[in-house]
Amino acid sequence: MKIHEYQAKELLRKYGVVTPRGIPCFSVDEAVKAAEELGGPIWVVKAQIHAGGRGKGGGVKLAKSLDEVKAVANDILGMQLITHQTGPEGQKVRRLLVEEGADIQHEYYVAALTDRATQKIAMMASSEGGMDIEEVAANTPEKIIKVFVDPLVGLTDAQATELAKGIGIPDGSMAQAIDAFKKLYTCYMETDASLAEINPLIHEGNGNIKALDAKFNFDSNALYRHPEIVEYRDLDEEDADEIEASKYDLAYISLDGNIGCLVNGAGLAMATMDTIKLFGAEPANFLDVGGGATTEKVTEAFKIMLKNPKVKGILVNIFGGIMRCDTIATGVVAAAKEVNLSVPLVVRMKGTNEDIGKKILAESGLPIISADSMAEAATKVVEAVK
Ligand code: ADP
Ligand code: MG
Repeated sequence: MKIHEYQAKELLRKYGVVTPRGIPCFSVDEAVKAAEELGGPIWVVKAQIHAGGRGKGGGVKLAKSLDEVKAVANDILGMQLITHQTGPEGQKVRRLLVEEGADIQHEYYVAALTDRATQKIAMMASSEGGMDIEEVAANTPEKIIKVFVDPLVGLTDAQATELAKGIGIPDGSMAQAIDAFKKLYTCYMETDASLAEINPLIHEGNGNIKALDAKFNFDSNALYRHPEIVEYRDLDEEDADEIEASKYDLAYISLDGNIGCLVNGAGLAMATMDTIKLFGAEPANFLDVGGGATTEKVTEAFKIMLKNPKVKGILVNIFGGIMRCDTIATGVVAAAKEVNLSVPLVVRMKGTNEDIGKKILAESGLPIISADSMAEAATKVVEAVK
């Protein structure tokens, strides 16, 4: 789960990381009021969307008077903000953060993330923070310093110092930077984040270290123990179909291709998507209906897949283990009838009650294309959408 910058900063402040003072706003009037409350002489008006790269996309603007705050807030609020992380269609801006302008002397980068390879927490930092960190990672990776933190030990003084020295924090700001790194680490651990990133972290003219931007991703499997973080969820920023699917306990992720897939089991769903690609087409979604799919669940799954106008064919791939093929077949037939299925449907089922399942499909009167192997199923669905 992702959250907005202003929420991320609220969290960081709870853990003692210093950020500029700021106020989230939902209208231009609120933005002007917020600027008055904060006091000048310089404000920054920032689009709040769940994607980075806002600065380059025109979603972060400086204002030197209340009139300018009004003007830029008016420009940003409601805009369709396109960044390298939003995709070409962009994301509509519905919230703003108005904050005091910081006296930036240098922009650094620092982040904590789960490193599965070492089973540790990677803390990364760079002297080259700001808006081009992707380029730094690609072209000059030596400018990114990494330490791997043992979760049983925590971030040690030596590691925090190594990071701070490695990115050239001036002596006068060293203690504050080390302190900020440790607080970031604690915040990351205690909130069950999978990523906590401050970019840029800055030092100001007076030597103070501040977090100017913040981004968090949280492990959704741990959200049950963080109701305060679930409160931050903003459904406007999430895929509507994925939200709908989660209501029926369906694991659904929309993708860019044109073949909808309905599969039981996440592993088989991944293999099905790979097979579709292998045969020259692209999946329109990942969809795992789980082990206990009912007719109702399968019908909802069909509805969600078909809401996507890009879907030109559907591949159902079921392994009947605990789930019986006849149950799925009944569900598929009922769903296809209910949604008035208008695209080709290829069904492959293997396992328990396979024969009964196939008979149900064959006798349904629906133009369902049956397949035995994965390869046959993929070939047939790819043919059908051509
Ligand atoms: P994004 O990473 O989405 O582009 P940031 O919050 O990092 O958005 O803002 C982009 C740039 O805008 C920062 O690198 C920084 O130079 C500048 N900036 C952001 N917030 C402030 C602020 N409060 N005061 C001064 N400059 C800021
Ligand atoms: Mg940033």
